[in-house]
Amino acid sequence: MKLSLKLRRPAGRASVHGTGALRAGLACLVMTSLPLNALTAAPRVTVVAELPTAPPNAHYVGHRPPLRPAPLLKLPVGAVRPEGWLHRVLRLQADGFHRHLTEISEFLKKENNAWLSPTGRGERGWEEVPYWLKGFQDCGYLLEDERMIREARVWIEGALGSQQPDGWFGPGEERTGVATDLKGRDDLWPNMIMLFCLQSYHERTGDPRVLTLMTRYFQYLAAVPEERFLLGYWPKMRAGDQLYSILWLYNRTGEPWLLDLAHKTHRHAARWDTGLINWHNVNLAQGFREPATYWVLSHDPRHRHATEHNWTELRALYGQVPGGMYGSDENCRPGFTGPRQAIETCGIAEEMLSDEILLGLTGDLRWADRCENVAFNSLPAAMTADLKALRYLTAPNQPQSDHVSKAPGIQNGGPMYCMDPHDHRCCQHNAGHAWPYFTQHLWMATAGNGLAAVLYAPSRVTAKVGDGTEVTFHTETRYPFEETLTFKLSAPRAVAFPLYLRVPAWCDRPALRLNGRPLEVRAPRLGAFLRLDRTWADGDTLTLSLPMQVRLRTWIKNRHTVSVDRGPLTYSLQIRENYVRHGGTDRWPAWDIFPASPWNYGLDLPARNPERAFTLVRRPWPADDQPWRWDAAPVQLKTRGRRLPAWTLDEKGLIREVQESPVRSTEPVEEINLIPMGAARLRLSAFPVIGTGPDAHDWAAPPPGRVRASHCWEADSVEAVCDGLEPRHSNDQTIPRFTWWPEKGNLQWIERTFEQPRPVSQVHVYWFDDTGVGGCRVPESWRLLYRDADGRWLQVAPATAFGVDKDRYNIVTFAPVTTDALRLEVKLREGFSGGILEWRVP
Ligand SMILES: [Zn+2]
Repeated sequence: MKLSLKLRRPAGRASVHGTGALRAGLACLVMTSLPLNALTAAPRVTVVAELPTAPPNAHYVGHRPPLRPAPLLKLPVGAVRPEGWLHRVLRLQADGFHRHLTEISEFLKKENNAWLSPTGRGERGWEEVPYWLKGFQDCGYLLEDERMIREARVWIEGALGSQQPDGWFGPGEERTGVATDLKGRDDLWPNMIMLFCLQSYHERTGDPRVLTLMTRYFQYLAAVPEERFLLGYWPKMRAGDQLYSILWLYNRTGEPWLLDLAHKTHRHAARWDTGLINWHNVNLAQGFREPATYWVLSHDPRHRHATEHNWTELRALYGQVPGGMYGSDENCRPGFTGPRQAIETCGIAEEMLSDEILLGLTGDLRWADRCENVAFNSLPAAMTADLKALRYLTAPNQPQSDHVSKAPGIQNGGPMYCMDPHDHRCCQHNAGHAWPYFTQHLWMATAGNGLAAVLYAPSRVTAKVGDGTEVTFHTETRYPFEETLTFKLSAPRAVAFPLYLRVPAWCDRPALRLNGRPLEVRAPRLGAFLRLDRTWADGDTLTLSLPMQVRLRTWIKNRHTVSVDRGPLTYSLQIRENYVRHGGTDRWPAWDIFPASPWNYGLDLPARNPERAFTLVRRPWPADDQPWRWDAAPVQLKTRGRRLPAWTLDEKGLIREVQESPVRSTEPVEEINLIPMGAARLRLSAFPVIGTGPDAHDWAAPPPGRVRASHCWEADSVEAVCDGLEPRHSNDQTIPRFTWWPEKGNLQWIERTFEQPRPVSQVHVYWFDDTGVGGCRVPESWRLLYRDADGRWLQVAPATAFGVDKDRYNIVTFAPVTTDALRLEVKLREGFSGGILEWRVP
């Protein structure tokens, strides 16, 4: 490889590159790097917004030409080891449901398992085995747990032994799964996951059979006719995973036909390069990165930008909440964008892995901030603190987590909030890779045989640097609960190499000491690297301080709720968690969690400098090293709040959606405790704000009584008709609605019951009509009935017509009645369904 071809322009002019446009704001901060061998003198610390990609790293596998050189290279599994709390969490995983799924999950039964069959015959041949193995195997490697490594090897050998003469491997013609229509070899999706498992195994062992298997499998794929290639829903959506593995192999074998297969995979992948083309949360978390993966081959900056655009657009639409994820409780749905919408545990794990991969491909530190945001604020809360149970869905505002279905406020029906190690099939197997991959990406290799600390947690990395000397950095820290990280070097001899330390975007005053002496850091305003070039010696100790300040974020699109951040952690109200057994087995129980303390608070903040209303409280570090617990969080914030008595759970135990802030409260001011939202399984992390001025709103109590209908489409809700959210027009897709879909052309009804009889003489009805988009129209006709004291339904005596106008309230006035129930009886138009956005009873 000719180095001269790979040398890039000095970083200071890098903004003329395509990627530089993203970072134009940083260009002024970039300085040219120091030469190596700045022997003995205190190193100058340079601020580097864009990493160099030359000279290429001689010790770790990077991208072969013509692929774009990767600025950060993944170290082989095992190079980075967990310590401190991270070690504890992985140990809990190894003692928890995930490590024991072979005893819990039907899919992992070895008898007649298609993944263990040399002919690919048998049962349970879909995604569950490789999903589980991906996290299980790497967890075993990171902990050096010989029993786990041996168990993982059984399944790896099963995959290696299953390759057929034509190159296919894994379950064969009988392959089928519980959530797919595909059969047999048409379904490439499960193999995509197993390829990740095989890569980890190869990184650990160097077993050449992996490269042979992958080469022959990809030859098989290369021969699949275009019209038969990457068929079906899941394979197309997640084809970026296959693309990643093809490039992984190409970087190791250099066989040029693999690049043709990479192009072919991109051609048949779902078109994530054109935007958000699917709304399933896991597809989003995985699929959005496909264009940037392809970018290293295409060199077309539009592909990199497409991934960035996908991430940003998704957050703009559904991610106006803390925790780093987005509301997609199975799918994103227009109108369901508030902080009570949830994310699947698989979505959390896949988002983290996507961020880690993109960090390597682009060197863009925003992916590190995004990954930590999800890892620290969303992931821990998806499982119980002992990692013995998990739930399917986790939301930023979720003050109760029980087995009762929360649909349709949440799209998924069923016990998705129950912490149940026996349920939540995909997440149950797949969630195990989140912490192991996170650990592996804490440190990465760089050009110039350097090393970069890119994500922060207590750990130990052993890697080759400079002239090939193997060194170890111990990262001693309780980050993210602490501001200081100490990196202690062990090295057999002095060795020169560049060291990069990430400065998170939330930190504007990093401070650095080398062997006790302060180093001057010209602080960047956005996330960047600190680069230190010197000859390092055994015992060198670097101390990085990342001062954390309380910052408030206002979610304008979510009714001006506010969330509270300090450094990488977002804080939730501390809610006392009451665990009540709900089934499971004595060894592996399932749990409902109920709030045992009030949760319906708004923050009572001063208008000026509201950040000063928070006091940091340090609590003793938990003796068991597990800080992600509501009752053991080592950092807390004290502040003031007032309760909002009208804010309640609905009849299904789902928190009612936030209303517009500021909001009035006549309740007394109380001191309240906030804890990291990752430590809170019951949580309130998007807060209403208490106000007293003329702009303050009253919190509207839920309508007394209840609403029911002859039928309601599963994605809609009857309560939407009285949720107080005003439609902008009849085709307003941004607020919840009620529809009779897919009922068409027939007679339907919807009924409101009051807690006690009341006088009524008018109703206002705002019809839903999605002409041009869907199959709902204003009805053909309707009438209004009321229930008399004897329980009979009688028609009101109208003074005005029963209107069916679009884009406004249809107001009907009638002779006053006193009643405890009203019923709208509707004749739907022939061939169409119908619905209501809002029904007011003044
Ligand atoms: Zn899942």
